[in-house]
Amino acid sequence: MARFIFITGGVVSSLGKGLMAASLAALLQARGYRVRIRKFDPYLNVDPGTMSPYQHGEVYVTDDGAETDLDLGHYERFTGVSARQSDNVTSGRIYQTIIQKERRGDYLGATVQVIPHVTDAIKEFAKAETDDLDFVLCEIGGTVGDIESLPFIEAIRQLRNELGRERTLSVHVTLVPYIAAAGELKTKPTQHSVRELTSLGIQPDVLLCRCEHPLPENERAKIAAFCNVRKEAVIPALDAKSIYAVPLQYHAEGLDIEVLRAFGLDASGKPDLSRWEDIIDRQSNPEGEVTIGVVGKYVGLADAYKSLNEALTHGGLANRVKVNINWIDAELFAQSEAEIAAALEPMHAILVPGGFGERGSEGKIASVKFARERQVPFFGICLGMQMACIEAARNTAGISNASSTEFGPTDEPVVGIITEWMTEEGLQKREVGGDLGGTMRLGAYDAKLTGNSHVATIYGSTEISERHRHRYEVNARYKAALEQGGLVFSGMSPDGELPEIVERPDHPWFIGVQFHPELKSKPFAPHPLFASFVEAALRQSRLV
Ligand code: GLN
Repeated sequence: MARFIFITGGVVSSLGKGLMAASLAALLQARGYRVRIRKFDPYLNVDPGTMSPYQHGEVYVTDDGAETDLDLGHYERFTGVSARQSDNVTSGRIYQTIIQKERRGDYLGATVQVIPHVTDAIKEFAKAETDDLDFVLCEIGGTVGDIESLPFIEAIRQLRNELGRERTLSVHVTLVPYIAAAGELKTKPTQHSVRELTSLGIQPDVLLCRCEHPLPENERAKIAAFCNVRKEAVIPALDAKSIYAVPLQYHAEGLDIEVLRAFGLDASGKPDLSRWEDIIDRQSNPEGEVTIGVVGKYVGLADAYKSLNEALTHGGLANRVKVNINWIDAELFAQSEAEIAAALEPMHAILVPGGFGERGSEGKIASVKFARERQVPFFGICLGMQMACIEAARNTAGISNASSTEFGPTDEPVVGIITEWMTEEGLQKREVGGDLGGTMRLGAYDAKLTGNSHVATIYGSTEISERHRHRYEVNARYKAALEQGGLVFSGMSPDGELPEIVERPDHPWFIGVQFHPELKSKPFAPHPLFASFVEAALRQSRLV
């Protein structure tokens, strides 16, 4: 039966609980245990699908079509375990479920309350589908003491009581700030945070103390004494030079050993960390570097393109090169051809990522044109692929007013909304003016690739499955016209209706994909498209 590790955060937000959970899971996995990580988000949105990337960073999409918190991306990248809908729950979803049941009369006249109804729902969520696992790590979003997270903390308290200490563990992540004027690390905020958690009925077993400077032994002892944990279970967590160094670093500080010991499990063996050592070796000793221009809309916040950023890094790992990403604001830069050339000429490759809305689209289309004409490697993802098709229509097929219906009414909807498509469950239907939440083509869909295409060579296969998140599609009616202009449709949905991949055989590397390959890339298994794209950028860097 699975053991549960609950991860809470204190003092401040942004301590990197998600990375911490992912790293601990990776360490347990490296010891042969089967793991799964879950995220509880206390906000009231049913899922993050309708939130601006500026609010909460990117929306991570799972194979089963859930729109989830970006931490699930870390979980997958660190463990290789595919996340599922059931791995992310928000207060909004829990309340939605409860209120629907209440309206149906399922509570048979009872008063519906936070305790026990909300807390029971949280407990059920934590325990669902965990029979085949050794460890379930549950990360609680927010900071202990927030009003919003109280039901989650209460549910954990109850679970610890019900399942017993042998099957549950509390890891609390805190901050030990450095006060420059005093030249000291301060433990008081940690003490207060642990006091807050204990007042809610949870005594932490392991403390993970984020700090910018090494934690002196006497401060470690002080935290242990005041917070009622073993000194060895006060784990210093210094800032790491790379997120992929975190598992190795936490292992060196004894985190996995303390966790196993707290469960009464044998911790004498050594985990197999060769996968992480190889990644760090590649990252620390690059044999070259490339600069990739990403022309997007949400360039002001790195988290908005989290998975993309990581997938490009993975492409660099595959080629042993450092990838510098030059974020270019599509809206601001495209005033004139000369300005576009000045911004893009230094780039070894150009990528137009996914996005929503018209803003910046002309800049993205201009970037596609530049990459096509100058023979610079080009990768278009989702909206980026749609922009590549509009560019092709306008500039190589003579359809000068080609556009997307996402940007308003158009006579030439090269990209348009789809209201019907096939899935394994049968025909899916959407209304044009329907709700924005959960109305997209979401999750894993198969595609068939043309045998001799560039993408089939890259994948080493003609059958692939990739994750989708979009409302609009390239209209297959324009296929012949675009192919005449040199843009080949080399990947289609299995029924042949929906374009999935376009490429240019007359170009060194020009690929547009309707899906999000970045979501499936791992540091230890870089996605083939990203590995190949970075390789093309490297070739380009040798030309200029
Ligand atoms: N806005 C486009 C659509 O909905 C593309 C979405 C995306 O890039 N993820 O189809």
